Amino acid sequence: MKCPKCHSTDLHRSRRRGLKEGWSLRRKQLAPYRCSACGNRFIAAEARPDGQQRSLSMADYLGLDDRTRQQCSGPVIIAGLTSQLILLSILLFLSLAFGWLDPPSLQRQAL
Ligand SMILES: [Zn+2]
Repeated sequence: MKCPKCHSTDLHRSRRRGLKEGWSLRRKQLAPYRCSACGNRFIAAEARPDGQQRSLSMADYLGLDDRTRQQCSGPVIIAGLTSQLILLSILLFLSLAFGWLDPPSLQRQAL
């Protein structure tokens, strides 16, 4: 990869500016770079050390189609799963607190 301005190969990754740029670039598998020679900042295809495709996202693991994928990115799915886990633990706590579930009595019956 070369700097489009001065054709130097002395480049380093630049930080993505803000959430919006980060998102749109990551989706297109692009990344900002800065030329160490002339300081020019430019966008290019994200360099992969192993030369492989990007790693599977959460949506890939869940096998979501493209339309669902646009609405459910990794963080959205994680947030959904986390809130479900929290709800479940609240339910478990309540059921223990109100005696709907009574583990000690279950143990006594087992003996
Ligand atoms: Zn340059």
